[in-house]
Amino acid sequence: MLCLKVPKQEGEKVRNKLLEEDLLFRKGKIESSEDGRFLFLPLKKPPPRRFEESGYELVEKNVEKRETLESDYTLLVDLPEHLKKYLPSSYDIIGDIALIKIPDEVEKYEREIGEAILNIHKNLVTVLKDQGVQGEFRVRDVRHVAGDKKTVTVHREYGAEFEVDVSEVYFSPRLATERWRVVKKVRKKEVLFDMFAGAGPYTVLIGRDAPVEHIYSVDLNPDAVEYLKKNVERNNLEDTVTIYEADARDVAPKIKCDRIIMNLPHSSEKFIHSALEALKDQGTIHYYEIVEESERKERLRGLLERIKRDGFEVRVQEERKVRTYSSTQVQMAYDLEVKKR
Ligand code: SAM
Repeated sequence: MLCLKVPKQEGEKVRNKLLEEDLLFRKGKIESSEDGRFLFLPLKKPPPRRFEESGYELVEKNVEKRETLESDYTLLVDLPEHLKKYLPSSYDIIGDIALIKIPDEVEKYEREIGEAILNIHKNLVTVLKDQGVQGEFRVRDVRHVAGDKKTVTVHREYGAEFEVDVSEVYFSPRLATERWRVVKKVRKKEVLFDMFAGAGPYTVLIGRDAPVEHIYSVDLNPDAVEYLKKNVERNNLEDTVTIYEADARDVAPKIKCDRIIMNLPHSSEKFIHSALEALKDQGTIHYYEIVEESERKERLRGLLERIKRDGFEVRVQEERKVRTYSSTQVQMAYDLEVKKR
């Protein structure tokens, strides 16, 4: 079977990337090389050339089947054959909690679905039904389905730890690769502004793993700020991070920074003026947007014009489709290099 050979320390990052692009053969066991320095990630199909261009080798290898599969839970749910197609093939895992979107057609079987997931993931203790993210604070509406009745957990990502109450503060493990992409872009001595920090995944990863000078982290949701504080302390970043429970627009005039993270993708547009206000004479904005795929280019053009009207030159240094959001919408990331005229 075709495998991607990657250095062990990059294994998690590349695995997430392959999963995101639906290239990983999940039923295959991930083996390590004899000297333990490399991992072989089994592939469903040949990946785009950029993987090899990044220095990863494509190799042919015998791959054993994994004993337990994430999707295997479907085999443990006893329900009529014609309903099987409604069982979700994936779910999110945050710490020791699984969050699953359950279609109405199989709602009656939600307890069994939860039990089945707990059965195959011995490290999970709770399954919650994910009823979507809502409101200004982007909080997830969840309902207990199986296991312990709890919503607080500790999630680990790239060596950092995040305590979150998944019912009170936004957190998505699906953004792990995107966050790491941003971490690698931060340069020495930069001052950063995390405008919509939530429980602090960008703030903490950048504070731990990038040579940053200081981070200003803001959130309007008091519960998010409570967890942001806990996570800054948990990861020993008290000297690096200043936290505000506020509207990012009120903090912007008080600071001057080199790099801004704007992760409020349904309404970033409303905040671009404040972001520009907080930037030094030049800097970078990581701008996220959820947009109709068909309107993507037009929306970007509008954004760039808006920035120019505010008296800045702007260049899209990198653009990336972070994920498919719905059948017609995508979440985009734009890294904007901005310079005062
Ligand atoms: N960056 C975090 C992450 O990646 O997990 C959280 C992103 S979440 C999509 C957006 C966050 O922005 C929420 O925690 C919400 O409470 C916060 N928020 C919404 N409006 C805000 C505002 N005007 N000023 C500051 N934070 C705001």
